[in-house]
This record gives sequence, structure tokens and C-alpha cells, in this order.
Amino acid sequence: MIRPYILSETNWNHLKDENINLAILPWGATEAHNFHLPYGTDNIEGTAFAEEAAGIAWEKGAKVIVLPTIPYGVNTGQKDIYLDMNMSPSTQMAVLKDLLTVLNRQGIMKFMLLNSHGGNNWKSIVRELGLEFPDMFLCVAEWYKVVDRNDYFDEPGDHAGELETSLLLSLRPELVLAKEEWGDGKDKKNKIDAFNKGWAWTERPWSNISSDTGVGNPSKASSEKGHRYFKDVCDNLANLMCDIASADIKNLYE
Ligand SMILES: [Zn+2]
Repeated sequence: MIRPYILSETNWNHLKDENINLAILPWGATEAHNFHLPYGTDNIEGTAFAEEAAGIAWEKGAKVIVLPTIPYGVNTGQKDIYLDMNMSPSTQMAVLKDLLTVLNRQGIMKFMLLNSHGGNNWKSIVRELGLEFPDMFLCVAEWYKVVDRNDYFDEPGDHAGELETSLLLSLRPELVLAKEEWGDGKDKKNKIDAFNKGWAWTERPWSNISSDTGVGNPSKASSEKGHRYFKDVCDNLANLMCDIASADIKNLYE
């Protein structure tokens, strides 16, 4: 069945009479995820969250459209990991500016970027583009921050751990290697503690901190955990889409 709220599935016949109000752009990355998850993990996740949530919002009457996922993220810390791809922040800004130019010209004035990769940083890019598109409402949501991951997983992990492995087991089990192949996702901490506490930041050279590219132990992952988490995140994202779609963007504060 053709889903009318997904741009890559729908058609001109339908869209010519449509009045889309909110565009949603998932943005992922292409990178190793421990030994056992696909390089496209972030894209699979971002696309699935956006499409499922948009479907719920559409059923509630929100005129949303999901744009095709951008599959390359900022992977400057993984430059020596084979076929980890990288798109620089300045390139991301150029790509985003082109897409916003289309939406702005065609009167689709509400935009949500659904981020699916921790290395992508959007605030400064969106602040700068916000000045160029003053009539648009621009926002960013990060699906991995929607609910408290500790309510769903024993040891969620940051990268290819229990959370992501559970999600992929739920969404695309045929792409997950057998459990014997899973690395333990053990990561090394910085000798300078401020960086571990998070109030100081420096890029982590990924191959120095993890031997299997994972950060977080996937061993307790299950498709049931992934499914429960996926559903709750989608419900919240759908509510956000409905709220934005119905909001008067010139009158947002009370
Ligand atoms: Zn990931």
C-alpha cells in the first residue's frame, strides 16, 4: 500500500492536490556498528521512527511528509575505520540549506529534522539557517532522547549496544549477525576525568576506545525490548508532529 505521507512512495497524482504542512527529514550516518549490526543502522532507525510516527500523525489528521533519509553523517572520529563515511558539518549545512530553499519556496513552512546519529550536531547549523529562512519554523528532534532508555534496557549503551541491537532485532532481524558474533562493546575511558564527566569535550578517536567499534554491551538485547522502546518513542514523536502541525508558529509562547 502506498503511504501518502512518505515522499519516496507517494506520487504527483496524490500530491498535486495535497496541502502539506510539516516536512520531516531523518538524518543518519553510514558507519560500523560493532561486528554484528549493519553500517546502515542509523539510517534504518531514523527512517523507521520517522515513517511510523508520521503514519500515526497522519491518521490523526496532521499533514506531514517524510523526506528521504540523508545517509551520511559526521564521522570525523572514525576516519580509520574501514568504509565509515563522513559528511562535514559545512556540507551538511549546504545540503540542508538547499532542501529548506525548496520547502520555503513552496510554502511548506514547518520543518523537523529527526537526527539519528550522535556525531551530527544541528543547533548551530539550524540557528544560522534560521536567519536565512525567517518565515519558517525549524526544529530538531533526536529519537534516542525521547524516553529514558534505562526504563527499557538493562545496559542501553551508546553505540551498537543493547538499545541499538534490540531495535535492529525488532526492525530488521535478517540483518543482525548471530549472537556468537557480537563483540562486548567495551570502551576505554579517558585518563583525564573531566572528559568522562562530560563538561569538557574532545573528539574520541574511535579505534582507540573500542576494539569492535561498539560502545555498550549488546548481550541482553532482544526484539521484545526493541519493539516496546520503538513503540513508545514513535507515540511521543507522533504527538510532537501533531503539535507542530497544528501550532500557530507566530504565536508559540504563553
Ligand atoms: Zn547507531
